[in-house]
Order: sequence, then C-alpha cells, then structure tokens
Amino acid sequence: MAQKLIDKSTLQLYKSGMTSLRESLGRKIVLYLPGGEEICPNCVWDSVSMCSAGIYFPKSPYPSNIPGPFEFTGICPVCKGVGKYTIQEVIKKIKAVPIWLKGKDRQVTVAGQSFEADYMLSNVDIKNYERMTLAKKIFVDDVEVELIGRPKKEGLKDLIKFTAYARAR
Ligand SMILES: [Zn+2]
Repeated sequence: MAQKLIDKSTLQLYKSGMTSLRESLGRKIVLYLPGGEEICPNCVWDSVSMCSAGIYFPKSPYPSNIPGPFEFTGICPVCKGVGKYTIQEVIKKIKAVPIWLKGKDRQVTVAGQSFEADYMLSNVDIKNYERMTLAKKIFVDDVEVELIGRPKKEGLKDLIKFTAYARAR
C-alpha cells in the first residue's frame, strides 16, 4: 500500500497552527548573542588603507548600540582610527513556549544521555536555531538558563520548529 503523503494544505495548516500557538502561549526568551565587528558608523572607511579615513561622517540613522555620533578632527573617538567597532553583545528577543518541569518530568534524555532539566522550551521557530545555540546567555522570564545538549529539530515534512531543554543557572 502506498504511503499516505502529507499534502501542501495539511502542511500549511500545521505551520500556521504552530505559529499561532507560539504567538498566544509563547513567552519572551531573551538571547545574548556574541557581538561582531562593524565598520565604524562615525567616520569614513578608507577601503584602500583598511582603516578610518579620519573624516567625520556619521551614519544616518546612527546605530543605537554604538556610542556616538561624536564630531571630531584628527582621530575618530569611536573607533580610535581603526575604522571598525566591536559590538560586545547583541540582544535578541524571541518567542517559545516554556514548560516548567517538575518531579520525574525533570529527567530528560538528550542524545542518549540522561539529564535533569528545569525547562522545556518548546515550539521555537526553526529560524532561531543557530541564534539559540550560539547565545552566550539565555533568559526565560528573567531566569538565566543554560541549554542541555543540542536542541531537537521538528516538523512534518519541513523542519519548522525545535525543542530545547534547559536548566536554571
Ligand atoms: Zn571611526
């Protein structure tokens, strides 16, 4: 007997169902992501010398996570003439359905190993997978947590969400 295939409309229903569930029951999860280097928004980048051209030219709109804009003559006070600015961390707010685990539900198995978990973060949008695994800090309702193992990707035909286990730090 031929295997019954999941048709497009079923898949669409599943996706929209999961999205509305996340929107209505989901809580805010705050991720602190490692920052990166950006071309200094306060001065002109000299692409030949690969450093600041020493000319004040603030980007508009000016990014809120970098100090400035500061008018100057000589050396740019934001990047100290380097032409690049290192952002310490990026804060990203996402949504997931956190389930507080109690009693024997705390015993979870991740990749064949048994752990004690405090939270199950379910129905997280797959697009946040890399972000969550790369996060330096994760907060669930102002409680800092750490992930246990690799989160599990889920879906019907396409991967659309994942579940992560975490414990309070
Ligand atoms: Zn600069």
